[in-house]
Amino acid sequence: MNRFIAAAVAGVLATSAAFAEGVTEEMLANDTASTGDVLTNGMGRHLQRYSPLETLNKDNVKNLVPAWAFSLGGEKQRGQETQPIVHDGVMYITGSYSRMYAIDVKTGEEIWQYDARLPEGILPCCDVVNRGAAIYGDNIYFGTLDARIVALNAKTGDTVWNKKIADYKAGYSYTAAPLIVDGLVITGNSGGEFGIVGAVEARDAETGELVWYRPVIEGHMGMLNGEESTMTGTLNATWPGDMWKTGGGATWLGGSYDADTDTLVFGTGNPAPWNSWLRDAGQNNDGTGDNLYAASRLGIDPKTGEIKWHFQTTPREGWDYDGVNEVVAYENRAGEKRFATADRNGFFYVLNREDGAFVRGVPFVKDISWAEGLDENGRPIYNEANRPGDPAEAADGKKGEVVFASPSFLGGKNWMPMAFSQRTGNFYVPSNEWGMDIWNEPITYKKGAAYLGSGFTIKPNYEDHIGSLKAIDPDTGETKWEFKNDAPLWGGVMTTAGGLVFTGTPEGKFIAFDDETGEELWSFQTGSGIVGQPITWEQDGEQYVTVISGWGGAVPLWGGEVAKKVNYLNQGGMLWTFRLPEQLASAN
Ligand code: CA
Ligand code: CA
Repeated sequence: MNRFIAAAVAGVLATSAAFAEGVTEEMLANDTASTGDVLTNGMGRHLQRYSPLETLNKDNVKNLVPAWAFSLGGEKQRGQETQPIVHDGVMYITGSYSRMYAIDVKTGEEIWQYDARLPEGILPCCDVVNRGAAIYGDNIYFGTLDARIVALNAKTGDTVWNKKIADYKAGYSYTAAPLIVDGLVITGNSGGEFGIVGAVEARDAETGELVWYRPVIEGHMGMLNGEESTMTGTLNATWPGDMWKTGGGATWLGGSYDADTDTLVFGTGNPAPWNSWLRDAGQNNDGTGDNLYAASRLGIDPKTGEIKWHFQTTPREGWDYDGVNEVVAYENRAGEKRFATADRNGFFYVLNREDGAFVRGVPFVKDISWAEGLDENGRPIYNEANRPGDPAEAADGKKGEVVFASPSFLGGKNWMPMAFSQRTGNFYVPSNEWGMDIWNEPITYKKGAAYLGSGFTIKPNYEDHIGSLKAIDPDTGETKWEFKNDAPLWGGVMTTAGGLVFTGTPEGKFIAFDDETGEELWSFQTGSGIVGQPITWEQDGEQYVTVISGWGGAVPLWGGEVAKKVNYLNQGGMLWTFRLPEQLASAN
């Protein structure tokens, strides 16, 4: 964008969003380039997690030292998965149990803390985590475990508004960072293990009033400006009977925004229940049994909530391969605009940015058992023998045939975000090499009860590692290098123009790698497991890096034999900020 156009856009926004005296739409749109702050989840709404800063680089990263640390306090700890926001001298983080903190970015001292008052009976499936906030105008926004979205005054922490997303008693919760586009706060929902209905919602950022609502399972009706808009899909086109009514598809990881095509991109989770035989329309190769739009990526119009396109990664999904993973907009080496996403099901996909159409897909974990590969449209070529057996076929009608499937239901990659480097053109994907015994059982829907119809035990696929950070060339699918880790990786990745790739391990190490070779250039032991998301920014001519430490998340709760393997890891809750002192920036 040239300077003239940028000024014109800023002028329009100044009049259309009068309350936004603080953070503006233009500032959010330029977040990657503005190195003095971090205003969005993903360090830019295309979620590349790439910083153009090169002050800190391969030669001097060994001089990176702690500047301050901040404890989240409290008796309750558990998983800390936040990505910090940095604006105007303040860092905002969310913590476990729906807490938020504002911290002086220079001193590490607390400015305010907000603790959501959570009711009895919340139903978070997979730990009491929160993945971060969103900032716009004078407000900071975050979602809570009782499925609410809260706007706080960024200066004081006082509540501006507090709205219900959905009924927590039915299994809904919220853990993702909200997304702000053109004055709308856009959220998904969590609860795919309770037979909820996945949806994407947009609210007026100033008032919290609902602008549109888009359920992601066919047959459900959307809303726009207080009235019914359109039905999602076509009733019973790909779902049998009434199963769509509790069809899952939780949009629990939030979304990205592609400004070039003016499209929101949200992923959708597993269809419910897990037992796919109960959702089986009997004709699965002609698309009529696909259970749309679960386990898919959806392109959505940000103004109306209409679905523009969909790409389903796992039709008639039956292994809990949620299709929620982040969709990253990027430009490849030939200058073509693409999306990339690494799915729970073990495949890394490149999609067309205009219509979500399949370009290519490759496995990014080693032992995918449920599919032989992908066809020319990106549809999986199923290995039918690796579908857990139908319990109705069992002698007692209670437990279907057990199969060993890989990857495990926690995925070739779970929630933890990958990063793209504009410097190398590669993606850096935090993955795990594990499988599971899985079987199906009968189940009927009951409000607020787990709705799985499945049993499982996760197992490592290799003796020496589960975690695997991979540098993947999206143009060829080639893995350029791999870092193996004993415990499963569960934290986010960040790249920089200084040639560095940052991520952390459950064993507590925060590591900087060489983006071309995978060589470990620097590390720091943070005292608890890292399942958070690193950021970097500059102030007063120095480059800073922050990551939160605090072991938890889904692995200790759901990890079967793997959870036993990592049960020695200590919990925590400490935010670490590192600095490259100016006098050491040129040192070797
Ligand atoms: Ca920025
Ligand atoms: Ca799921």
